[in-house]
Amino acid sequence: MRTGRLFVVAGPSGAGKGTLIAELLKRYPKSRLSVSATTRKPRPGEKDGVHYFFLDKGEFRRRAEAGEFLEWAEVHGNLYGTPRRQVEEWMDRGYDVILEIDVQGAGQVRERMPEAVTVFVQPPSLEVLEERLRRRGTENEEQMRERLRNADRESLEKDKFHYVVVNDELHRAVSELCAIYEKESRRLDG
Ligand code: 5GP
Repeated sequence: MRTGRLFVVAGPSGAGKGTLIAELLKRYPKSRLSVSATTRKPRPGEKDGVHYFFLDKGEFRRRAEAGEFLEWAEVHGNLYGTPRRQVEEWMDRGYDVILEIDVQGAGQVRERMPEAVTVFVQPPSLEVLEERLRRRGTENEEQMRERLRNADRESLEKDKFHYVVVNDELHRAVSELCAIYEKESRRLDG
C-alpha cells in the first residue's frame, strides 16, 4: 500500500521553488525530493544523479516511450521528466515525495495521480522575477527572455492548483508551504 503523499510544487523558473523546497526538506525527515531527468546541459557545480540525471535526447525519448516517466515536458527548449520508479518506491516506504516541476508536468500528474497535492509558487512580480534570474546569472539574455515569457503563460494556470504561495518574503512563504505540507501529510482520506 502506498502510504506517502505526493506534493507537486510548480511555478515559473526563478519563482524560488528550489529555495522553498530546500527549507521544507530540512524540517521534515519524512520528505524526499524527486530527482528529475533532463536533456539540459549541467550548470557549473551541478552533479549527475544529485541535481538531475543528465541524459541525451535519444536516451530521454527512449525512457519516455518505455513509460519510465510519471510526467515529462519540454520546458524552455529542453526535455524534463520525473522518473516514476523512485517516486513510487519512496511513497511505498511511507515517504512524502516532492516534485519540483513546471505547470505542464503538474497537469499530467493531476490527471494520473489526482490525489497529489499541488502548490503553485508565484513570484511577487515579473520585475522581481527578472531581477532574480539576472542575479542567478545562469542564462544568457535570450534564454532569460524565454523564461520570462513562459512565466507569464504559467501564471495563467495557477487557478488549477490546490494552493498558491506568493514568494515575496522568504520566511512567510516557507511557513506557508510548511503549513500546507503539515496539514496535507496528516490527512487520513484520499
Ligand atoms: P532549470 O533548467 O532551471 O533547472 O529548470 C527549468 C524548469 O523545468 C523549472 O521550472 C523546473 O521546475 C522544471 N522542471 C525540472 N524538472 C522537471 C521535471 O521533471 N518535469 C517537468 N515537467 N518540469 C521540470
